Amino acid sequence: MHELSMANSMVEAILDTAKKNDAIKINEAVFEIGELTMLNPEQLKFMIDILREGTILEDAEIVINMIPTKIECESCGFTGETKTDENRDHLMTVATCPECENTRVHILQGQECTIKTIKIEKEDENA
Ligand SMILES: [Zn+2]
Repeated sequence: MHELSMANSMVEAILDTAKKNDAIKINEAVFEIGELTMLNPEQLKFMIDILREGTILEDAEIVINMIPTKIECESCGFTGETKTDENRDHLMTVATCPECENTRVHILQGQECTIKTIKIEKEDENA
């Protein structure tokens, strides 16, 4: 499943970053997911919940920000947010220009799938 592999690589990336920073606990993780990735944030959260069990990510607050699709139309020059095809049976999403319905558009935004920030707790050096 799409969400599972994505959740898996995200959890791994977070744990990797935390490890490099000597974190003993992760308090918060913020994700940015573009609409065009067709990831379902609820499912993604659910998968992360399963994958993070027993890790230092276990008690973190997971925040998922959806990023709307922004395009630049090659035909009429429209630049801005657009609606994507809601048909979730297809993993291929087509962005169309809301002005002239051209599908030859540049995707400016909406394909993100990134970890924006993580808040970690380090071992107390004075302890
Ligand atoms: Zn257009």
